[in-house]
Amino acid sequence: MKEEVEGIILKETPYSETSKVLQILTKKYGLVSAIAKGASSIKSNLRSLTIPFLYAKFELIYKEGKLSILTGGNIIKLYGEGKSDLKLYAYMSYLCDLSYNVLKENNDKEIFDILKSSLDKLSEKLDYEVIKNIVEFKYLNYLGIEPNFNICHKCHMVKDFYAIDGKIGGFVCHDCFKNERLITPNLLKKMKRFQEVNISEITEIKLTDEEKKLISEFLREYYETFSAVYLNSIKFLDMFKS
Ligand SMILES: [Zn+2]
Repeated sequence: MKEEVEGIILKETPYSETSKVLQILTKKYGLVSAIAKGASSIKSNLRSLTIPFLYAKFELIYKEGKLSILTGGNIIKLYGEGKSDLKLYAYMSYLCDLSYNVLKENNDKEIFDILKSSLDKLSEKLDYEVIKNIVEFKYLNYLGIEPNFNICHKCHMVKDFYAIDGKIGGFVCHDCFKNERLITPNLLKKMKRFQEVNISEITEIKLTDEEKKLISEFLREYYETFSAVYLNSIKFLDMFKS
């Protein structure tokens, strides 16, 4: 039975000579794999519905746990401005890739709203790196590896925070401190806010360049150490770091 499902295309891969397989993050079912038969053909009316970062109401024959079939749809918005802004495109590409990998581990429907609101904020030109970091913080919960910000990760005691290290999983107290990055109570508050904030409600970002760098490096080390999520897109993103 055909139904209309709101979703965002995370990936598209060629299938046979003329078709494509889409990975669509839907509001209703989470991640859905769907075949768009004949979509590579210039004459196909599905062609315009098979572009990465496309947000649309897709008409699908949904098959749980199997390949669904795309039959049509209505475009709501194409994120990414047709690749004209390469840096924006790289961040969107990374976030879609990351979302896909998180969904493979935990097909939680809440991820749709996180990704959609982050793509909206990137389109509004809010700080790309900070939006990416907020999403990365949120996804740690869905990966089941949320950092524990309540204890020192060396002595495992509840103490005042002094420094931070992604490789050991969080904070280090003054007594255990060796060469980790120093952190202020104010920055700690901001990092906790990253986990809680509703992305769609963000209107401005107040972080110093140093704070941004510290959070960014912490998350990268944390993902590399504790998550099996491996992403080539992050390497593409590195080209745009100043
Ligand atoms: Zn300690």
